[in-house]
Amino acid sequence: MIVLFIVATTTTLGAFGAHRQWQLQQDLEQRFERTRAEVLEGLKESLAAPAWALNVGILRTRLESTLIHPEVTEACVFSPDRQEVYADVRRTVAAGRPPSPGALPCAAANGRDVLAEITLYPPDNIDPERRNQAIGTAVIRLTRDNMHETLRAAMVQGVTEVAAIDVALILLLTFGLRMVFRPIEHLRGALLELASTHGDHLDELARLGRTEFDSVIDAFNLVLRRLKLIIAQRTEAEMAARAATQTSNEAFAQIQATQAELVEKNRQLEALSKTDQLTGVFNRRHLNDVLTRALERTRRDGSLFSIILIDVDRFKSVNDTHGHQVGDRVLVEMAGRILDAKRATDTVGRWGGEEFLLICADTGLQDAVRFAQRLRNAVSERDFYVTGRMTASLGVACVQEGDTIHGMISRADEALYRSKELGRNRVEYAADGIATMPDGEPRMR
Ligand code: GH3
Ligand code: MG
Ligand code: MG
Repeated sequence: MIVLFIVATTTTLGAFGAHRQWQLQQDLEQRFERTRAEVLEGLKESLAAPAWALNVGILRTRLESTLIHPEVTEACVFSPDRQEVYADVRRTVAAGRPPSPGALPCAAANGRDVLAEITLYPPDNIDPERRNQAIGTAVIRLTRDNMHETLRAAMVQGVTEVAAIDVALILLLTFGLRMVFRPIEHLRGALLELASTHGDHLDELARLGRTEFDSVIDAFNLVLRRLKLIIAQRTEAEMAARAATQTSNEAFAQIQATQAELVEKNRQLEALSKTDQLTGVFNRRHLNDVLTRALERTRRDGSLFSIILIDVDRFKSVNDTHGHQVGDRVLVEMAGRILDAKRATDTVGRWGGEEFLLICADTGLQDAVRFAQRLRNAVSERDFYVTGRMTASLGVACVQEGDTIHGMISRADEALYRSKELGRNRVEYAADGIATMPDGEPRMR
């Protein structure tokens, strides 16, 4: 680029120089021609009037006056037949070419010299016959040496000027462009690094002390500062968001753990609220709930169920003989035997003291009585741990139309009472005043 610019500049300057040189040459040529005409005219005038009376001395003086023009190197006057030289003058030193002594004056011109001549005639007031007879010939040798010298000097000056301008341009462009491009390169490098590394570790650029670049550098540094601020804010926000996410995750995990704990606690509480603490079977409250639901179902679809009230015989004497703790243990063992004997659909619980209640779902009176007999056997056929043989009396009642918990329990209790009355270790059932087992299964409908 720089080379192209310099070549173009040099070519343009060269063209201008050549044109100037050509104009100078034209000017010099015109001046040369003017000088030749002037010299010849002057010589013609100065020699015309008294030419026929001139002596050699005067002729020489007149000829010498032409030498005041630097272009004239030689002047002479010949006889009309050119056989005799009346007078001749030469410039002593002619543009570095000393005249050749003895050579014929104003001989043929070489390439650079020009010969100009005029024929001399007597003045008009002379005898008309002689007026047209030439009295001599004046020849002047003019040289273009000076003109060529001037042209050469002008050419040297022009070439020197172009060369000087070229050198100045090369220096200016080399150092000037370096001064321009170095900061731009510096800035470009910083911008590329900024683009590839997000700029958070990039240092601000130093000012160069040059207004035009410093304003760009200031703008770059401003952008860099804003970018760093944005990055810092974003990093801070990301860290805060991460911390918040972690906190909420922890809180969520804690809530989940607490929830699971609560569910478990609820389950335990619910189980506890249904359970008899001593024996582990259901308590009276839960038995009431099961009875309520069973009665509702009976009202809804007429399905049967029965209850068996079980009372440990002569339990008071166990307490009295072996102590309350052994009594408790007997109750626990009793509950275990009932649990082992019952069906999966039956519900067993402690009704109070040493009384247990069994609720037999979908069971009529006859099946309930049979089951009560098996239960009675399960209690009496094996010895208890400390107390040995124990028995229980059982009262059975089957649900009736329009029945209530109180009604059913009362009928089972009456049957139980009869069992006690009739000698204990017995099964009695309530059948609306019928004290004996019916043949068929009682049905509500
Ligand atoms: P019966 O054959 O007529 O039923 O005679 P019984 O002695 O079993 O009946 P009673 O009602 O006279 O006695 C019941 C005893 O049960 C009285 C009470 O001290 C005892 N008892 C009630 N609850 C508990 C208990 O939780 N633990 C213990 N060890 N004894 C209890
Ligand atoms: Mg009792
Ligand atoms: Mg008892």
